[in-house]
Amino acid sequence: MERIVEERRAVLTGWALGAFEAGCVLTDTGHLGSPSLFFLVPLSALCFYGLLAWVIAAILGSQGKVLPWKWIYFLGLAGLLFLLRRRGLPEGSHYSFVAIGGATSLALWFLSIRPELPKALVWIGKLNALAPFLMWFGLHVALEKPRVSEGPTQESQSKKNVVLVTWDTVRADTLPLYGGSGLNTPNLDRLARGGKMISDFQAVASITGPSHMSMLTGLYPPTHGLRSNGLTAPETGFQNLPQRLHNAGWHTGAFVSALPVHAKFGFDRGFEYFDQRPESSAGQQLAQVLRFSSSVARLFLPESLRGTLSVRGTTTVSRATEWYLKQVGPAFMWVHLFDAHGPYDPPKEFRERALARRDEGPHAIAPQDEESLVLQRGEIEQLDELLGELLDSLSEKDPELRNTAVLVVADHGECFGEGGIHLEHETSLFSATQHVPAVFRFPGIQYNSTFSSASHVDIAPTVLEFADLDLFDDCQGKSLFSSPESRSPRGLYMEAYQERLGEKRMEAWIEGDWKFVRRLNGEEILYQRSLGEGRNRASSQPEKLKEMRRKLESFLQSITIRTGEASALSSSEEAAMQSLGYFEEGG
Ligand SMILES: [Zn+2]
Repeated sequence: MERIVEERRAVLTGWALGAFEAGCVLTDTGHLGSPSLFFLVPLSALCFYGLLAWVIAAILGSQGKVLPWKWIYFLGLAGLLFLLRRRGLPEGSHYSFVAIGGATSLALWFLSIRPELPKALVWIGKLNALAPFLMWFGLHVALEKPRVSEGPTQESQSKKNVVLVTWDTVRADTLPLYGGSGLNTPNLDRLARGGKMISDFQAVASITGPSHMSMLTGLYPPTHGLRSNGLTAPETGFQNLPQRLHNAGWHTGAFVSALPVHAKFGFDRGFEYFDQRPESSAGQQLAQVLRFSSSVARLFLPESLRGTLSVRGTTTVSRATEWYLKQVGPAFMWVHLFDAHGPYDPPKEFRERALARRDEGPHAIAPQDEESLVLQRGEIEQLDELLGELLDSLSEKDPELRNTAVLVVADHGECFGEGGIHLEHETSLFSATQHVPAVFRFPGIQYNSTFSSASHVDIAPTVLEFADLDLFDDCQGKSLFSSPESRSPRGLYMEAYQERLGEKRMEAWIEGDWKFVRRLNGEEILYQRSLGEGRNRASSQPEKLKEMRRKLESFLQSITIRTGEASALSSSEEAAMQSLGYFEEGG
Protein backbone atom coordinates (compact mmCIF):
# COMPACT_ATOMS: atom_id res chain seq x y z
CA MET A 1 0.00 0.00 0.00
CA GLU A 2 2.80 2.36 0.97
CA ARG A 3 4.48 1.63 -2.34
CA ILE A 4 1.42 2.71 -4.32
CA VAL A 5 1.22 6.02 -2.45
CA GLU A 6 4.92 6.42 -3.10
CA GLU A 7 4.40 5.99 -6.85
CA ARG A 8 1.55 8.50 -6.85
CA ARG A 9 3.71 11.03 -5.08
CA ALA A 10 6.51 10.37 -7.55
CA VAL A 11 4.30 10.94 -10.59
CA LEU A 12 2.86 14.12 -9.10
CA THR A 13 6.30 15.45 -8.23
CA GLY A 14 7.49 14.70 -11.75
CA TRP A 15 4.46 16.43 -13.23
CA ALA A 16 5.01 19.43 -10.98
CA LEU A 17 8.57 19.81 -12.26
CA GLY A 18 7.41 19.19 -15.83
CA ALA A 19 4.65 21.82 -15.51
CA PHE A 20 7.17 24.34 -14.28
CA GLU A 21 9.57 23.77 -17.14
CA ALA A 22 6.83 23.52 -19.77
CA GLY A 23 5.54 26.86 -18.59
CA CYS A 24 8.98 28.38 -18.81
CA VAL A 25 9.74 27.25 -22.34
CA LEU A 26 6.27 27.27 -23.85
CA THR A 27 6.57 29.34 -26.97
CA ASP A 28 5.82 29.46 -30.62
CA THR A 29 7.06 26.08 -31.74
CA GLY A 30 8.05 26.85 -35.28
CA HIS A 31 11.43 26.08 -33.70
CA LEU A 32 10.45 22.48 -34.11
CA GLY A 33 9.81 22.69 -37.82
CA SER A 34 6.04 22.49 -37.60
CA PRO A 35 3.62 24.72 -35.68
CA SER A 36 1.32 21.73 -35.23
CA LEU A 37 3.84 20.39 -32.72
CA PHE A 38 2.90 23.19 -30.32
CA PHE A 39 0.90 20.97 -27.99
CA LEU A 40 3.72 18.48 -27.72
CA VAL A 41 6.06 20.80 -25.86
CA PRO A 42 4.11 21.05 -22.59
CA LEU A 43 2.94 17.47 -22.95
CA SER A 44 6.42 16.09 -23.44
CA ALA A 45 7.81 17.94 -20.43
CA LEU A 46 4.98 16.56 -18.24
CA CYS A 47 5.37 13.04 -19.57
CA PHE A 48 9.13 13.08 -19.42
CA TYR A 49 9.42 14.12 -15.77
CA GLY A 50 6.37 12.09 -14.70
CA LEU A 51 7.82 8.99 -16.29
CA LEU A 52 11.28 9.59 -14.87
CA ALA A 53 9.99 10.01 -11.31
CA TRP A 54 7.65 7.04 -11.59
CA VAL A 55 10.46 4.76 -12.81
CA ILE A 56 12.68 5.86 -9.90
CA ALA A 57 9.86 5.25 -7.41
CA ALA A 58 9.04 1.84 -8.91
CA ILE A 59 12.67 0.69 -8.72
CA LEU A 60 13.36 2.02 -5.23
CA GLY A 61 9.90 1.03 -4.00
CA SER A 62 10.56 -2.58 -4.93
CA GLN A 63 13.49 -2.44 -2.48
CA GLY A 64 11.26 -0.95 0.20
CA LYS A 65 12.76 2.52 0.01
CA VAL A 66 10.77 5.74 0.46
CA LEU A 67 12.05 9.00 -0.97
CA PRO A 68 11.49 12.53 0.43
CA TRP A 69 9.55 13.76 -2.62
CA LYS A 70 8.92 17.16 -1.04
CA TRP A 71 12.64 17.87 -0.99
CA ILE A 72 13.22 16.32 -4.36
CA TYR A 73 10.64 18.73 -5.78
CA PHE A 74 12.36 21.80 -4.37
CA LEU A 75 15.84 20.55 -5.29
CA GLY A 76 14.58 19.78 -8.80
CA LEU A 77 13.07 23.24 -9.07
CA ALA A 78 16.37 24.82 -8.03
CA GLY A 79 18.24 22.64 -10.53
CA LEU A 80 15.85 23.59 -13.33
CA LEU A 81 16.12 27.27 -12.51
CA PHE A 82 19.88 26.93 -12.67
CA LEU A 83 19.77 25.14 -16.05
CA LEU A 84 17.22 27.58 -17.49
CA ARG A 85 19.27 30.51 -16.33
CA ARG A 86 22.32 29.08 -17.97
CA ARG A 87 20.69 28.23 -21.28
CA GLY A 88 18.24 31.13 -21.31
CA LEU A 89 14.61 31.02 -22.36
CA PRO A 90 14.11 30.23 -26.04
CA GLU A 91 13.61 33.15 -28.35
CA GLY A 92 9.96 34.08 -28.66
CA SER A 93 9.00 32.70 -25.25
CA HIS A 94 5.72 34.00 -23.93
CA TYR A 95 6.72 35.11 -20.46
CA SER A 96 3.16 34.81 -19.15
CA PHE A 97 3.67 31.05 -19.38
CA VAL A 98 6.37 31.23 -16.73
CA ALA A 99 3.71 32.27 -14.23
CA ILE A 100 1.25 29.63 -15.49
CA GLY A 101 3.92 26.93 -15.25
CA GLY A 102 4.90 28.05 -11.76
CA ALA A 103 1.30 28.08 -10.49
CA THR A 104 0.43 24.68 -12.01
CA SER A 105 3.61 23.29 -10.60
CA LEU A 106 2.80 24.47 -7.07
CA ALA A 107 -0.78 23.13 -7.30
CA LEU A 108 0.51 19.68 -8.27
CA TRP A 109 3.02 19.76 -5.45
CA PHE A 110 0.30 20.58 -2.88
CA LEU A 111 -1.69 17.64 -4.19
CA SER A 112 1.32 15.35 -3.77
CA ILE A 113 1.77 16.14 -0.06
CA ARG A 114 -1.85 15.36 0.86
CA PRO A 115 -2.04 12.19 2.96
CA GLU A 116 -4.86 10.71 0.84
CA LEU A 117 -4.15 10.67 -2.86
CA PRO A 118 -6.74 9.91 -5.55
CA LYS A 119 -6.44 6.28 -6.62
CA ALA A 120 -6.87 7.10 -10.29
CA LEU A 121 -3.47 8.75 -10.19
CA VAL A 122 -1.72 5.41 -10.10
CA TRP A 123 -3.32 4.40 -13.34
CA ILE A 124 -2.59 7.72 -14.92
CA GLY A 125 0.96 7.32 -13.70
CA LYS A 126 1.21 3.88 -15.23
CA LEU A 127 -0.31 5.10 -18.47
CA ASN A 128 2.41 7.69 -18.45
CA ALA A 129 4.71 4.85 -19.48
CA LEU A 130 2.92 4.82 -22.81
CA ALA A 131 3.76 8.49 -23.33
CA PRO A 132 6.85 8.06 -25.51
CA PHE A 133 4.96 5.79 -27.90
CA LEU A 134 1.95 8.13 -28.00
CA MET A 135 4.17 11.09 -28.64
CA TRP A 136 6.03 9.32 -31.37
CA PHE A 137 2.71 8.41 -32.94
CA GLY A 138 1.45 11.97 -32.48
CA LEU A 139 4.52 13.29 -34.24
CA HIS A 140 3.83 11.04 -37.18
CA VAL A 141 0.38 12.56 -37.41
CA ALA A 142 1.58 16.11 -36.83
CA LEU A 143 4.49 16.06 -39.28
CA GLU A 144 3.82 18.05 -42.39
CA LYS A 145 2.46 16.17 -45.40
CA PRO A 146 3.00 17.13 -49.02
CA ARG A 147 0.18 19.33 -50.34
CA VAL A 148 -1.68 17.41 -52.98
CA SER A 149 -4.37 18.98 -55.14
CA GLU A 150 -6.33 17.92 -58.22
CA GLY A 151 -4.43 16.50 -61.18
CA PRO A 152 -4.89 18.12 -64.58
CA THR A 153 -8.52 18.21 -65.75
CA GLN A 154 -7.74 17.54 -69.37
CA GLU A 155 -5.41 14.98 -70.83
CA SER A 156 -2.47 16.22 -72.81
CA GLN A 157 -1.25 14.45 -75.93
CA SER A 158 2.21 15.85 -75.30
CA LYS A 159 4.95 13.38 -74.52
CA LYS A 160 7.31 16.04 -73.25
CA ASN A 161 8.65 16.47 -69.74
CA VAL A 162 10.50 19.36 -68.14
CA VAL A 163 12.68 19.14 -65.04
CA LEU A 164 13.91 22.38 -63.50
CA VAL A 165 16.73 21.89 -60.98
CA THR A 166 17.69 24.95 -58.97
CA TRP A 167 20.99 25.01 -57.11
CA ASP A 168 20.75 27.54 -54.31
CA THR A 169 23.77 29.85 -53.85
CA VAL A 170 26.15 28.76 -56.62
CA ARG A 171 28.26 31.26 -58.53
CA ALA A 172 29.16 30.60 -62.13
CA ASP A 173 32.91 31.05 -61.74
CA THR A 174 33.16 28.21 -59.19
CA LEU A 175 32.19 25.60 -61.79
CA PRO A 176 34.70 24.00 -64.20
CA LEU A 177 32.26 24.79 -67.05
CA TYR A 178 32.78 28.47 -66.32
CA GLY A 179 36.51 28.28 -65.68
CA GLY A 180 36.57 27.25 -62.02
CA SER A 181 38.68 24.41 -60.63
CA GLY A 182 39.16 22.45 -57.45
CA LEU A 183 36.10 20.27 -58.09
CA ASN A 184 34.59 18.01 -60.73
CA THR A 185 31.05 18.28 -62.08
CA PRO A 186 30.94 15.49 -64.67
CA ASN A 187 27.15 15.30 -64.77
CA LEU A 188 26.60 19.00 -65.37
CA ASP A 189 29.34 18.90 -68.03
CA ARG A 190 27.58 15.97 -69.74
CA LEU A 191 24.30 17.88 -69.68
CA ALA A 192 25.99 20.91 -71.22
CA ARG A 193 27.53 18.79 -74.00
CA GLY A 194 24.06 17.57 -74.99
CA GLY A 195 22.49 21.01 -74.59
CA LYS A 196 23.61 24.54 -73.97
CA MET A 197 25.55 26.30 -71.30
CA ILE A 198 24.60 29.96 -71.10
CA SER A 199 27.81 31.85 -70.52
CA ASP A 200 26.28 35.16 -69.42
CA PHE A 201 23.27 34.29 -67.30
CA GLN A 202 22.28 36.98 -64.80
CA ALA A 203 20.20 36.50 -61.65
CA VAL A 204 17.26 38.93 -61.31
CA ALA A 205 17.93 39.26 -57.59
CA SER A 206 20.58 38.25 -55.09
CA ILE A 207 18.18 36.34 -52.83
CA THR A 208 16.27 33.10 -53.04
CA GLY A 209 12.57 34.01 -53.10
CA PRO A 210 12.58 36.76 -55.74
CA SER A 211 14.85 34.82 -58.12
CA HIS A 212 12.76 31.66 -57.97
CA MET A 213 9.52 33.58 -58.37
CA SER A 214 10.94 35.13 -61.56
CA MET A 215 11.78 31.67 -62.91
CA LEU A 216 8.20 30.50 -62.36
CA THR A 217 6.47 33.65 -63.63
CA GLY A 218 8.69 35.13 -66.35
CA LEU A 219 8.38 38.44 -64.47
CA TYR A 220 10.98 40.63 -62.82
CA PRO A 221 10.64 41.02 -59.03
CA PRO A 222 8.97 44.49 -59.11
CA THR A 223 6.20 42.98 -61.26
CA HIS A 224 5.65 39.65 -59.50
CA GLY A 225 5.88 41.55 -56.21
CA LEU A 226 8.03 39.16 -54.16
CA ARG A 227 10.97 41.53 -53.83
CA SER A 228 12.14 40.47 -50.39
CA ASN A 229 12.30 37.06 -48.71
CA GLY A 230 9.36 36.79 -46.35
CA LEU A 231 6.89 38.58 -48.62
CA THR A 232 4.08 36.72 -50.35
CA ALA A 233 3.73 37.32 -54.07
CA PRO A 234 0.35 38.88 -54.85
CA GLU A 235 -1.94 37.17 -57.36
CA THR A 236 -1.15 38.65 -60.77
CA GLY A 237 -4.41 37.71 -62.48
CA PHE A 238 -2.71 35.59 -65.10
CA GLN A 239 -1.13 32.18 -65.12
CA ASN A 240 2.43 31.41 -64.12
CA LEU A 241 4.48 28.64 -65.75
CA PRO A 242 3.24 25.68 -63.65
CA GLN A 243 -0.38 26.88 -63.83
CA ARG A 244 -0.17 27.13 -67.59
CA LEU A 245 1.33 23.66 -67.97
CA HIS A 246 -1.12 22.16 -65.49
CA ASN A 247 -4.10 23.65 -67.33
CA ALA A 248 -2.73 22.17 -70.53
CA GLY A 249 -2.78 18.69 -69.02
CA TRP A 250 0.68 18.39 -67.47
CA HIS A 251 1.37 16.93 -64.06
CA THR A 252 3.19 19.47 -61.91
CA GLY A 253 5.28 18.72 -58.83
CA ALA A 254 7.67 20.80 -56.71
CA PHE A 255 10.21 19.63 -54.14
CA VAL A 256 11.78 22.42 -52.13
CA SER A 257 14.48 22.33 -49.48
CA ALA A 258 14.24 25.63 -47.59
CA LEU A 259 11.84 28.15 -46.11
CA PRO A 260 12.20 31.09 -48.56
CA VAL A 261 10.44 29.07 -51.29
CA HIS A 262 7.66 27.60 -49.15
CA ALA A 263 4.00 27.57 -50.17
CA LYS A 264 3.05 30.44 -47.87
CA PHE A 265 4.96 32.87 -50.09
CA GLY A 266 3.04 31.77 -53.20
CA PHE A 267 5.41 29.13 -54.56
CA ASP A 268 2.83 26.35 -54.63
CA ARG A 269 0.66 28.06 -57.26
CA GLY A 270 0.10 25.71 -60.18
CA PHE A 271 1.67 22.68 -58.51
CA GLU A 272 -0.62 19.73 -57.92
CA TYR A 273 2.03 18.23 -55.63
CA PHE A 274 4.09 20.53 -53.41
CA ASP A 275 6.55 18.95 -51.01
CA GLN A 276 8.15 21.19 -48.38
CA ARG A 277 8.32 18.58 -45.63
CA PRO A 278 11.12 19.03 -43.10
CA GLU A 279 14.07 16.72 -43.21
CA SER A 280 13.61 15.15 -39.81
CA SER A 281 12.02 11.80 -39.15
CA ALA A 282 9.45 11.46 -36.35
CA GLY A 283 12.24 10.13 -34.13
CA GLN A 284 14.44 13.17 -34.73
CA GLN A 285 11.48 15.48 -34.20
CA LEU A 286 10.71 13.71 -30.92
CA ALA A 287 14.30 14.19 -29.81
CA GLN A 288 14.03 17.83 -30.83
CA VAL A 289 10.79 18.30 -28.89
CA LEU A 290 12.34 16.68 -25.83
CA ARG A 291 15.52 18.72 -26.07
CA PHE A 292 13.39 21.79 -26.45
CA SER A 293 11.00 21.12 -23.63
CA SER A 294 13.29 19.66 -21.01
CA SER A 295 16.64 20.83 -19.73
CA VAL A 296 17.31 17.39 -18.29
CA ALA A 297 16.57 15.58 -21.56
CA ARG A 298 18.87 18.06 -23.24
CA LEU A 299 21.74 16.90 -21.07
CA PHE A 300 21.39 13.35 -22.33
CA LEU A 301 20.23 13.61 -25.95
CA PRO A 302 23.08 13.97 -28.42
CA GLU A 303 23.10 16.93 -30.80
CA SER A 304 23.19 14.53 -33.72
CA LEU A 305 19.58 13.53 -33.03
CA ARG A 306 18.35 16.99 -33.83
CA GLY A 307 16.45 17.63 -37.03
CA THR A 308 17.66 20.26 -39.47
CA LEU A 309 15.97 23.38 -40.79
CA SER A 310 16.67 22.82 -44.45
CA VAL A 311 16.24 19.54 -46.28
CA ARG A 312 19.30 17.69 -47.56
CA GLY A 313 19.57 17.24 -51.31
CA THR A 314 19.66 13.46 -51.01
CA THR A 315 16.23 13.55 -49.35
CA THR A 316 14.73 16.05 -51.79
CA VAL A 317 15.99 14.19 -54.85
CA SER A 318 14.67 10.85 -53.64
CA ARG A 319 11.25 12.39 -52.89
CA ALA A 320 11.22 14.02 -56.32
CA THR A 321 12.24 10.86 -58.15
CA GLU A 322 9.58 8.82 -56.42
CA TRP A 323 6.85 11.24 -57.52
CA TYR A 324 8.19 11.73 -61.01
CA LEU A 325 8.35 8.07 -61.91
CA LYS A 326 4.72 7.61 -60.88
CA GLN A 327 3.40 10.23 -63.31
CA VAL A 328 1.77 9.03 -66.49
CA GLY A 329 1.77 11.66 -69.21
CA PRO A 330 3.77 14.86 -69.46
CA ALA A 331 5.24 16.23 -66.25
CA PHE A 332 6.85 19.44 -65.05
CA MET A 333 8.97 19.05 -61.95
CA TRP A 334 10.89 21.66 -59.95
CA VAL A 335 13.63 20.39 -57.63
CA HIS A 336 15.15 23.02 -55.31
CA LEU A 337 18.45 22.00 -53.66
CA PHE A 338 19.88 23.97 -50.77
CA ASP A 339 23.10 22.09 -49.94
CA ALA A 340 25.50 24.70 -51.34
CA HIS A 341 23.98 27.48 -49.20
CA GLY A 342 25.93 28.37 -46.03
CA PRO A 343 26.90 27.10 -43.52
CA TYR A 344 29.49 25.23 -45.57
CA ASP A 345 29.59 21.76 -44.20
CA PRO A 346 29.81 19.06 -46.87
CA PRO A 347 29.63 15.36 -45.96
CA LYS A 348 32.98 13.81 -45.03
CA GLU A 349 34.05 12.34 -48.38
CA PHE A 350 33.23 15.57 -50.26
CA ARG A 351 34.94 17.65 -47.58
CA GLU A 352 38.13 15.60 -47.85
CA ARG A 353 38.13 15.76 -51.64
CA ALA A 354 37.60 19.54 -51.62
CA LEU A 355 40.32 20.13 -49.00
CA ALA A 356 42.77 17.98 -50.96
CA ARG A 357 42.39 20.39 -53.91
CA ARG A 358 42.34 23.57 -51.85
CA ASP A 359 45.29 25.14 -53.67
CA GLU A 360 43.36 25.35 -56.93
CA GLY A 361 41.56 28.55 -57.88
CA PRO A 362 39.75 30.80 -58.09
CA HIS A 363 40.55 31.95 -54.58
CA ALA A 364 38.42 34.04 -52.27
CA ILE A 365 38.92 37.82 -52.43
CA ALA A 366 39.12 37.80 -48.63
CA PRO A 367 41.62 35.28 -47.19
CA GLN A 368 39.36 34.61 -44.20
CA ASP A 369 36.65 33.34 -46.58
CA GLU A 370 38.94 30.95 -48.44
CA GLU A 371 38.12 27.93 -46.30
CA SER A 372 34.38 28.45 -46.84
CA LEU A 373 34.86 28.77 -50.58
CA VAL A 374 36.84 25.53 -50.67
CA LEU A 375 34.27 23.69 -48.56
CA GLN A 376 31.44 24.97 -50.76
CA ARG A 377 33.15 23.25 -53.71
CA GLY A 378 32.61 19.99 -51.84
CA GLU A 379 28.92 20.77 -51.50
CA ILE A 380 28.65 21.61 -55.20
CA GLU A 381 30.39 18.36 -56.09
CA GLN A 382 27.70 16.58 -54.10
CA LEU A 383 25.00 18.53 -55.96
CA ASP A 384 26.53 17.28 -59.20
CA GLU A 385 26.47 13.70 -57.96
CA LEU A 386 22.78 14.13 -57.12
CA LEU A 387 22.21 15.53 -60.61
CA GLY A 388 23.70 12.32 -62.01
CA GLU A 389 21.32 10.22 -59.91
CA LEU A 390 18.38 12.35 -61.00
CA LEU A 391 19.30 12.09 -64.69
CA ASP A 392 19.51 8.30 -64.36
CA SER A 393 16.04 8.24 -62.82
CA LEU A 394 14.60 10.49 -65.52
CA SER A 395 15.87 8.02 -68.10
CA GLU A 396 13.70 5.32 -66.54
CA LYS A 397 10.64 7.24 -67.73
CA ASP A 398 12.14 8.41 -71.01
CA PRO A 399 15.21 6.47 -72.25
CA GLU A 400 17.94 8.77 -73.57
CA LEU A 401 15.74 11.70 -72.56
CA ARG A 402 14.41 12.14 -76.09
CA ASN A 403 11.40 14.10 -74.84
CA THR A 404 12.69 15.42 -71.54
CA ALA A 405 14.13 18.89 -71.06
CA VAL A 406 16.45 19.44 -68.10
CA LEU A 407 17.43 22.86 -66.78
CA VAL A 408 20.02 23.44 -64.08
CA VAL A 409 20.28 27.00 -62.82
CA ALA A 410 21.34 28.81 -59.65
CA ASP A 411 19.17 31.45 -57.97
CA HIS A 412 22.13 33.66 -56.95
CA GLY A 413 25.76 33.34 -55.93
CA GLU A 414 27.71 34.31 -52.82
CA CYS A 415 30.26 36.94 -51.83
CA PHE A 416 33.59 35.69 -50.51
CA GLY A 417 34.92 39.15 -49.71
CA GLU A 418 33.74 41.12 -52.77
CA GLY A 419 33.08 44.72 -51.76
CA GLY A 420 33.80 43.78 -48.15
CA ILE A 421 30.82 41.40 -48.11
CA HIS A 422 31.61 38.13 -46.41
CA LEU A 423 29.70 34.87 -46.85
CA GLU A 424 26.37 36.40 -47.75
CA HIS A 425 24.52 37.58 -50.82
CA GLU A 426 21.59 39.81 -49.98
CA THR A 427 23.52 43.10 -49.92
CA SER A 428 25.29 42.57 -53.25
CA LEU A 429 24.63 43.11 -56.94
CA PHE A 430 28.22 42.24 -57.78
CA SER A 431 28.76 39.56 -60.39
CA ALA A 432 29.76 37.31 -57.45
CA THR A 433 26.05 36.98 -56.71
CA GLN A 434 24.49 37.84 -60.08
CA HIS A 435 26.49 35.80 -62.60
CA VAL A 436 25.08 32.33 -62.11
CA PRO A 437 25.42 29.03 -63.94
CA ALA A 438 22.66 27.98 -66.33
CA VAL A 439 22.77 24.76 -68.31
CA PHE A 440 19.76 23.80 -70.42
CA ARG A 441 19.18 20.66 -72.39
CA PHE A 442 16.13 20.80 -74.64
CA PRO A 443 15.99 17.80 -76.99
CA GLY A 444 15.42 18.52 -80.68
CA ILE A 445 15.72 22.29 -80.40
CA GLN A 446 17.91 24.68 -82.27
CA TYR A 447 19.25 27.31 -79.93
CA ASN A 448 19.63 30.82 -81.05
CA SER A 449 23.37 31.16 -80.73
CA THR A 450 23.51 34.90 -81.24
CA PHE A 451 22.03 36.14 -78.01
CA SER A 452 24.41 37.62 -75.54
CA SER A 453 22.81 37.51 -72.11
CA ALA A 454 19.90 35.76 -70.47
CA SER A 455 18.21 35.91 -67.10
CA HIS A 456 15.78 34.07 -64.81
CA VAL A 457 12.80 35.69 -66.56
CA ASP A 458 13.73 33.79 -69.75
CA ILE A 459 13.12 30.36 -68.22
CA ALA A 460 9.31 30.37 -68.31
CA PRO A 461 8.98 31.52 -71.95
CA THR A 462 11.65 29.03 -73.06
CA VAL A 463 9.89 26.13 -71.35
CA LEU A 464 6.53 27.20 -72.78
CA GLU A 465 7.93 27.27 -76.28
CA PHE A 466 9.37 23.77 -75.78
CA ALA A 467 5.95 22.62 -74.52
CA ASP A 468 4.24 24.12 -77.61
CA LEU A 469 2.21 26.50 -75.46
CA ASP A 470 1.63 30.20 -75.99
CA LEU A 471 3.39 32.84 -74.00
CA PHE A 472 1.34 34.61 -71.37
CA ASP A 473 0.66 38.32 -71.67
CA ASP A 474 3.03 40.57 -69.80
CA CYS A 475 5.85 38.02 -69.79
CA GLN A 476 9.05 40.01 -69.43
CA GLY A 477 11.42 37.25 -70.54
CA LYS A 478 12.26 35.94 -73.97
CA SER A 479 12.55 32.39 -75.19
CA LEU A 480 16.10 31.26 -75.82
CA PHE A 481 14.89 29.73 -79.07
CA SER A 482 13.33 32.85 -80.51
CA SER A 483 14.75 34.77 -83.43
CA PRO A 484 17.81 36.98 -82.99
CA GLU A 485 15.79 40.09 -83.88
CA SER A 486 13.39 39.58 -81.04
CA ARG A 487 16.16 39.14 -78.50
CA SER A 488 18.81 41.72 -79.23
CA PRO A 489 19.88 44.28 -78.38
CA ARG A 490 18.57 43.82 -74.92
CA GLY A 491 19.26 44.96 -71.40
CA LEU A 492 18.56 43.05 -68.20
CA TYR A 493 17.17 44.29 -64.90
CA MET A 494 18.16 43.11 -61.42
CA GLU A 495 17.69 44.28 -57.86
CA ALA A 496 18.69 43.77 -54.22
CA TYR A 497 15.55 44.71 -52.37
CA GLN A 498 15.60 42.79 -49.08
CA GLU A 499 13.51 45.02 -46.83
CA ARG A 500 15.99 45.43 -44.03
CA LEU A 501 18.44 47.16 -46.41
CA GLY A 502 16.20 50.24 -46.28
CA GLU A 503 17.71 53.10 -48.30
CA LYS A 504 20.59 50.85 -49.37
CA ARG A 505 18.23 48.76 -51.51
CA MET A 506 19.35 48.92 -55.12
CA GLU A 507 18.33 48.38 -58.71
CA ALA A 508 20.58 47.71 -61.67
CA TRP A 509 20.55 47.60 -65.44
CA ILE A 510 23.00 45.51 -67.47
CA GLU A 511 23.47 46.03 -71.17
CA GLY A 512 26.43 44.93 -73.23
CA ASP A 513 29.61 45.70 -71.37
CA TRP A 514 27.98 48.07 -68.89
CA LYS A 515 26.30 47.68 -65.55
CA PHE A 516 24.57 50.57 -63.82
CA VAL A 517 23.62 50.27 -60.14
CA ARG A 518 21.49 52.79 -58.25
CA ARG A 519 20.63 52.75 -54.58
CA LEU A 520 17.41 54.19 -53.19
CA ASN A 521 19.53 56.80 -51.39
CA GLY A 522 20.61 58.12 -54.80
CA GLU A 523 24.13 56.65 -54.92
CA GLU A 524 25.05 55.66 -58.52
CA ILE A 525 27.69 53.20 -59.66
CA LEU A 526 28.78 52.39 -63.20
CA TYR A 527 30.89 49.33 -63.99
CA GLN A 528 32.52 48.35 -67.21
CA ARG A 529 32.01 44.62 -66.94
CA SER A 530 35.03 43.52 -68.98
CA LEU A 531 37.30 45.51 -66.64
CA GLY A 532 35.85 44.05 -63.45
CA GLU A 533 33.86 45.69 -60.70
CA GLY A 534 36.71 47.22 -58.76
CA ARG A 535 36.15 50.77 -59.98
CA ASN A 536 33.13 53.05 -60.23
CA ARG A 537 33.28 54.71 -63.67
CA ALA A 538 30.38 57.05 -63.05
CA SER A 539 32.52 60.22 -63.07
CA SER A 540 34.82 59.21 -65.91
CA GLN A 541 31.95 58.12 -68.22
CA PRO A 542 29.23 60.74 -67.74
CA GLU A 543 27.58 60.05 -71.12
CA LYS A 544 27.38 56.32 -70.50
CA LEU A 545 26.08 56.98 -67.02
CA LYS A 546 23.29 59.14 -68.40
CA GLU A 547 22.39 56.59 -71.05
CA MET A 548 22.25 53.69 -68.59
CA ARG A 549 20.26 55.72 -66.07
CA ARG A 550 17.76 56.57 -68.77
CA LYS A 551 17.44 52.90 -69.76
CA LEU A 552 16.83 51.80 -66.19
CA GLU A 553 14.25 54.51 -65.66
CA SER A 554 12.38 53.84 -68.87
CA PHE A 555 12.26 50.13 -68.00
CA LEU A 556 10.85 50.89 -64.55
CA GLN A 557 8.27 53.25 -66.06
CA SER A 558 7.16 50.63 -68.59
CA ILE A 559 6.32 47.86 -66.13
CA THR A 560 3.49 47.20 -63.72
CA ILE A 561 4.78 47.32 -60.16
CA ARG A 562 3.15 45.08 -57.57
CA THR A 563 3.85 44.93 -53.87
CA GLY A 564 3.93 41.65 -51.98
CA GLU A 565 2.32 41.36 -48.59
CA ALA A 566 4.39 40.64 -45.54
CA SER A 567 3.63 37.11 -44.42
CA ALA A 568 3.09 36.45 -40.76
CA LEU A 569 6.16 34.49 -39.76
CA SER A 570 6.24 32.44 -36.60
CA SER A 571 9.16 33.30 -34.35
CA SER A 572 10.80 30.08 -35.40
CA GLU A 573 10.40 30.91 -39.05
CA GLU A 574 12.00 34.25 -38.29
CA ALA A 575 14.77 32.40 -36.52
CA ALA A 576 15.13 30.18 -39.58
CA MET A 577 15.33 33.20 -41.89
CA GLN A 578 17.90 34.73 -39.54
CA SER A 579 19.96 31.58 -39.53
CA LEU A 580 19.94 31.75 -43.34
CA GLY A 581 21.28 35.27 -42.99
CA TYR A 582 18.18 37.10 -44.21
CA PHE A 583 17.01 39.09 -41.22
CA GLU A 584 19.08 40.87 -38.66
CA GLU A 585 18.62 39.86 -35.05
CA GLY A 586 15.37 41.39 -33.90
CA GLY A 587 14.83 43.10 -37.24
ZN1 LIG B 1 19.03 31.22 -52.56
